[in-house]
Amino acid sequence: MPDTPRPETLREWDRKDLWHPFTPHAVYEKEHPLLIDRGEGNYLIDVDGNRYLDGVSSLWCNLLGHHRPEIDNAIRSQLDKIAHSTLLGNSNAVAVELAHRLVSLAPEGLTRVFFSDNGSTSVEVALKMAFQFWQQVDGGAEKRRTRFVALANAYHGDTLGSVSVGGIDLFHEKFRPMLFDVLRGPSPYCYRCPLEKDPASCAQECLQSLLELIHNNADELAGVVLEPGFQGAGGIIAYPKGYLRKVREATHDAGTFLVLDEVAAGMGRGGTLFACEQEKVVPDFLCIAKGLTGGYLPLAATLTTERVFEAFLAPPEDGFTFFHGHTYTGNALGAAAALATLDILDREEILSKVKEKIQFLGDEVGRLWNLPGVGDIRQWGMAAGVELVADKQTKEPFPASERRGMRVCTAAKSRGVFLRPLGDVVVVMPPLTITQDEIRILVDAVEYGVATEVAEAK
Ligand SMILES: *Cc1c(COP(=O)(O)O)cnc(C)c1O
Repeated sequence: MPDTPRPETLREWDRKDLWHPFTPHAVYEKEHPLLIDRGEGNYLIDVDGNRYLDGVSSLWCNLLGHHRPEIDNAIRSQLDKIAHSTLLGNSNAVAVELAHRLVSLAPEGLTRVFFSDNGSTSVEVALKMAFQFWQQVDGGAEKRRTRFVALANAYHGDTLGSVSVGGIDLFHEKFRPMLFDVLRGPSPYCYRCPLEKDPASCAQECLQSLLELIHNNADELAGVVLEPGFQGAGGIIAYPKGYLRKVREATHDAGTFLVLDEVAAGMGRGGTLFACEQEKVVPDFLCIAKGLTGGYLPLAATLTTERVFEAFLAPPEDGFTFFHGHTYTGNALGAAAALATLDILDREEILSKVKEKIQFLGDEVGRLWNLPGVGDIRQWGMAAGVELVADKQTKEPFPASERRGMRVCTAAKSRGVFLRPLGDVVVVMPPLTITQDEIRILVDAVEYGVATEVAEAK
């Protein structure tokens, strides 16, 4: 094997040859980006040998730490057989096994698994399936069901369908002319309530407004799309209890579909394998990705019901087939990694152990309330967001140009903790395998960052 290029060469090539996602290149180099070489458990190791606690699970997907021998070995064993074969009109053993396992674990009634490559495509698939279902079910009697309801602040990925249902202006507004029109419900963002209510006394008007939107457009709706548990990229915005259940009832009443995007909240992040379990909700479509392979390989799944599947069963010449599929759909290495991940979750009882860690994480981030510049702290499961503001009283944000969230994360890096913010929300979303001691180290690093980078806030 040729020698790995030296760190300075890699840095130069990184600067010169790469275009990074969600990254303003005008400031990229100044913000001390990591250049990772290896991983070990909950730690990342850069090309200079520095270790960083992975405080965001390498973007919300590395559930069980890096370089897990069981997942490494599962991929190696699969490699000894085959790396990839197509699912288009054919099958492969390990993808079948994974589909069977997912159906056995999923809420009752979700009996069909459609694989794709990432979170965006898992949502894209659900949207297209839902749309096509109404076009062809019952001889076309429901063809008018073409519209989707989604929330402000929603994030469902970056392909154009998932951007259409997305509701984060900074990411999505520029593309609006390319997108289909969506009915938009308010975000349950209590700290900056879009309806200007006081969370202490409100009657969940945001939910009421969403339910009305569903009710008033019932006949035209192809589906309602939500991230259950919490809105992730929107700023770790947790829903009030009972919210999801009410939306499920409204979609039942409206005779339409509920699409749940569990790309961030699923796979144990909230202490249950699927977020919807917590409100005993069974959606018509369930989208999972990120943690599915333990953060090893790009693989996603869209689970749906037999009712949906059967509407695509006419003779081929009728054109009812779902004409959608990605080349690497059901990739064998990804499926092997996913099976190994599910094995570890089960064998090590990760989900029952994580409940205590969720509590501990809440207590630890709770320490930050008194710091200047900390406006709000939100948590859902093993995900927390600390919203920085210039003035706690008025909730005035910092000017975006000051990049305070990023500065706090850069300061945390100097304390050996890797974090990546969402604007001025510092996100903490560690692997489920993190220990209590490591949670403390992580929150200490956030505290240090806030104390040094937003100290003059009111
Ligand atoms: C990350 C994310 C996506 C997109 O997943 P990709 O794998 O990046 O395409 C979709 N929905 C939610 C809720 C996410 O957090």
